[in-house]
Amino acid sequence: MMHVLVLGAGQLARMMSLAGAPLNIKISAFDVRSENIVHPLTLEVLGQGLDNAIEQADVITAEFEHIPHDVLESCEKSGKFLPSTDAIKAGGDRRIEKQLLDNAEVKNANYAVINSKQDFQAAIESVGIPMVLKSALGGYDGKGQWRLKSVDQVDTIWEEMAQCIAESNNQAIVAEEFVPFQREVSLVGARNRQGDLAIYPLAENVHTNGVLTLSTAIDEPELQAQAAQMFTAVAESLDYVGVLALEFFDVNGQLLVNEIAPRVHNSGHWTQQGADTCQFENHLRAVCDMPLGTTEAVRATSMVNILGQDQVPMQVHQLAGCHVHWYGKEKRAGRKMGHINVSAANRAELKLQLLKLADLLDEEAFPALKPAAQAL
Ligand code: ATP
Ligand code: MG
Repeated sequence: MMHVLVLGAGQLARMMSLAGAPLNIKISAFDVRSENIVHPLTLEVLGQGLDNAIEQADVITAEFEHIPHDVLESCEKSGKFLPSTDAIKAGGDRRIEKQLLDNAEVKNANYAVINSKQDFQAAIESVGIPMVLKSALGGYDGKGQWRLKSVDQVDTIWEEMAQCIAESNNQAIVAEEFVPFQREVSLVGARNRQGDLAIYPLAENVHTNGVLTLSTAIDEPELQAQAAQMFTAVAESLDYVGVLALEFFDVNGQLLVNEIAPRVHNSGHWTQQGADTCQFENHLRAVCDMPLGTTEAVRATSMVNILGQDQVPMQVHQLAGCHVHWYGKEKRAGRKMGHINVSAANRAELKLQLLKLADLLDEEAFPALKPAAQAL
C-alpha cells in the first residue's frame, strides 16, 4: 500500500483517488483553503495539520499550481514531493513559465512583463496591438485577462491592471502578442523517475468564454511529433516526474505553446475511456516509481464539460459509449461540476453519438457541442 498526499482537494484529486484504488494507492488530499487533510471522495476531514500528513505520506504531489509557497517549501523539504517546486512555480507564474519555455527553446508567443505604466507603453511598442494581457499569478479559466485592441483602451485597461498589481504581493502582468490561431490543441503525457516518457495523442480543445467545454483526441502524426518534441524539451528541462500538460495554439500547422500545467489536465479526461491507461493512473505510476502504462487511443473519444449543472437527462446514460463523471460538488453558476466522456469505434460514429448527446442536452448550457460535433 502506497500513501500519496495530494495538494488540492478538487476533482483532480478525486479522480486520482479513483484511479489509484486498484493499485492499492491510497490518496489523501490537502484542502489549501481550510488547511485540512480530507478524504478525496467524501471530503470528510481526516486530520488537521499538514506536517503530520507529510510525515505519513510516501509521496506528495499536487493537483493544481496555485499553492502557497510555504506549503510547497514544507513538502519539498520532506524529499517526497513530485514534480518539483520549480515545476509547480512555473505553472503558477507566467513570468517563470515564459522564461522556462524560452530557455528550453520551445516556441511561444512574444511577450513582455509589465510592472508599471511605462512598461505597458514599452510593451505596446515591442509586442504590438492587438495584445493579450494576463496576470502573472493566479489566473485560470480566462480570469485575470484583458484584451488590448486599440490605443484608446490603454488608460481604462491600465487602471484595472494597476489595481490587480497592487492587490497582491509579487503580482505583475504578462503582455502577449495576440496569436491568430486556427484552433487550440493540448498534449498530456507522463514522465517517471527513470525518465521514461508516455505521451497521449493530442486533444483538440474548444473553449467557451475562456473555459474548456469540449476536448477530442485527434490522430495527426505531424502535429503530434511537433508537440511531443516540445513536451520532451519542457519535461526534461524540469527533470519532471508525473503528468504534465502543454496547451498549444495551432497556427497553420505550426504549434506555439500557450501555457503549461504541471499536473493532470481537463483536456486529458478523455483518457479515462479513450486510452488503455488514464492520465490519473499514469500520474500515480510516475510519482510512485512504477512503469508507465500505454497511452495510445483505443477508440475515438471526446470529453464534454458540465458547467453549472448538477443533473443531465437520464437518456444520456442510455447512449452507447457515454460515461458521466460527477465531481460531487455544490452547484454554482459556471462551476465545473462534472464531465461526459463519449467514445465510439471511429470518428464517424463518435460524431453521431455527440450529435445525439447534443440533442439531449440544453443548447444554452452546452453551446459548443452541436457545432463542434458537426465539424468533426
Ligand atoms: P486555463 O484555465 O487554461 O489555465 P488561463 O486563464 O490560464 O486558462 P490561457 O490559457 O492563457 O488562460 O488563456 C485562455 C484562453 O484565451 C486561451 O485558451 C485562448 O483561447 C485565449 N488566449 C490566450 N492567450 C492568447 C493569445 N496570446 N492570443 C490569442 N488568444 C489567446
Ligand atoms: Mg489555458
